[in-house]
Amino acid sequence: MEVVIVGAGAAGAMTALLAARAGHHVTLLEREPAAPAGSVEEAAARAFRPTAPQIVQPHVLLARYRLLLREHLPDVYDDLVRDGAVESRLAAQLPPTLRDLAPGPHDDRYTMLLTRRSTLDRVLDARVRSERGITVRGGATVRGLLTRGGAPPRITGVRLDDGALAADVVVDASGRRSRVDGWLAGVGARPRPVVRADCGLAYYSRHYRLRTTNDLPGRADNRTILPLDEFVAGMWGADNGTVLLGLCPLAEDHRFRVLRDPEVFTAVFATVPGLRGWLDVLEPIGEVFPMGGLHNTLHRLVDAAGPVALGLHAVGDGVCTTNPTLARGLGVALRTALDLVDALSEHPHDPLARALAHDAAITEGVEPFYLDQARTDAARLARVRGVLHVRGVLDGRPAAPAAPAAPPPSPERVGFDELSAAAFFDATLFRTAASVRGMLVRPEAVYIDPAVVARVREVQAAHPDGVPAPAQPDPDRLAKALAAAA
Ligand SMILES: Cc1cc2nc3c(=O)[nH]c(=O)nc-3n(C[C@H](O)[C@H](O)[C@H](O)COP(=O)(O)OP(=O)(O)OC[C@H]3O[C@@H](n4cnc5c(N)ncnc54)[C@H](O)[C@@H]3O)c2cc1C
Repeated sequence: MEVVIVGAGAAGAMTALLAARAGHHVTLLEREPAAPAGSVEEAAARAFRPTAPQIVQPHVLLARYRLLLREHLPDVYDDLVRDGAVESRLAAQLPPTLRDLAPGPHDDRYTMLLTRRSTLDRVLDARVRSERGITVRGGATVRGLLTRGGAPPRITGVRLDDGALAADVVVDASGRRSRVDGWLAGVGARPRPVVRADCGLAYYSRHYRLRTTNDLPGRADNRTILPLDEFVAGMWGADNGTVLLGLCPLAEDHRFRVLRDPEVFTAVFATVPGLRGWLDVLEPIGEVFPMGGLHNTLHRLVDAAGPVALGLHAVGDGVCTTNPTLARGLGVALRTALDLVDALSEHPHDPLARALAHDAAITEGVEPFYLDQARTDAARLARVRGVLHVRGVLDGRPAAPAAPAAPPPSPERVGFDELSAAAFFDATLFRTAASVRGMLVRPEAVYIDPAVVARVREVQAAHPDGVPAPAQPDPDRLAKALAAAA
């Protein structure tokens, strides 16, 4: 089949590789001028692009993504490790309360990969360019869809600035800012059904290089995320001796907008007791990268009446975006790509069956993670907003839209936060929580598993004080750090 993919980000590149290897002719269209990067460092230096600003933000490749990559794109995995990506094993991820955890026979499945996103994209780009069956066109912006009519419309290709390109299948891999709704309207199709829940965070992050490998304040082959009362702070180990530091306040908390100033960023990071030691062993590589507009979203191409168009599919962020701190985006991207290629093989001549099969796969493999994230975020947002209101920070500002509520507390169900807290004290629950975080299992199935619920309740009874809260920044020091910019 002739497959045209719109967008050569990670989702587009992985879909292109999988589709070409399944025997399809693929054209990969990317609006940015595409020139291969000579080295990992060159890729990092020129990674920022306004159309995909997340490329420079901290990334970790979760357990599920790593396993899928090894199984379905093993050459990409090998290239990535050869180019410096670091395997973060379960032993590196342990909290201080579980340092004596004995290794388990299946612990390899929890391993994560640590890398700058630009290193992953460079590896994917090189593989795409050398793959027979893929044509890459840089500087090619898709402006709309071609159709031969029908209800729903049958998509037959895409419109570009300099003409048209015919296709049996068009794949929207154009990311979180996809214009596909406008394109659908242009061919008389119904809009995509969408559900949305606030994630609430803004990201400010900076790249660093380790100055030493001695006396580090923690493990560099791990990422550490501290959910503080007023904001989230994090450290992400990455490839080739690099580390990313990040500060993620609520987007509505405008005090933190000054974090884009590198001096303020450093001063605020230095207020975080659990992480500030990293500043002593790191050399900054560049500026501070801000990113906002983050939402949990789930877009479908099938509504109650059926597919909104035939011959059109979506992968990656075009299907689902979730709170970045849980790092599920690339796992979703590869899952949707694999499911699409399966649907192409199973229904080569039946676009209706193909659309329904791909949508069913989204229900099975993506929606559970969207729902989990939306509920977890709703609880966390309510908590942080509560703190900020009590401290008078958000007074007078309109409240952000409400997120969906989690199911009410029940003796038969635990929530993500309860499981994560109990995991600090119990090796079995630590692995269970790692399975949920790593997308190895459907979250809701775990939350209602009687054995998990019973074990969490036992741990809660044995540790009534719960997990020790991370030490908080000194309020005066934080206020001073934020005022430094003015
Ligand atoms: C702050 C942040 C941190 C994150 N951290 C993690 C993490 O730790 N782990 C993880 O797994 N995920 C993470 N994610 C999510 C991850 O970055 C995304 O899921 C992933 O980038 C999605 O890839 P994509 O290919 O779908 O979209 P994109 O990477 O956005 O690619 C879309 C491409 O389409 C191109 N394009 C757009 N429109 C057109 C057009 N009309 N014509 C042609 N080309 C077009 C764009 O130029 C772009 O290259 C994070 C996201 C954010 C925002």
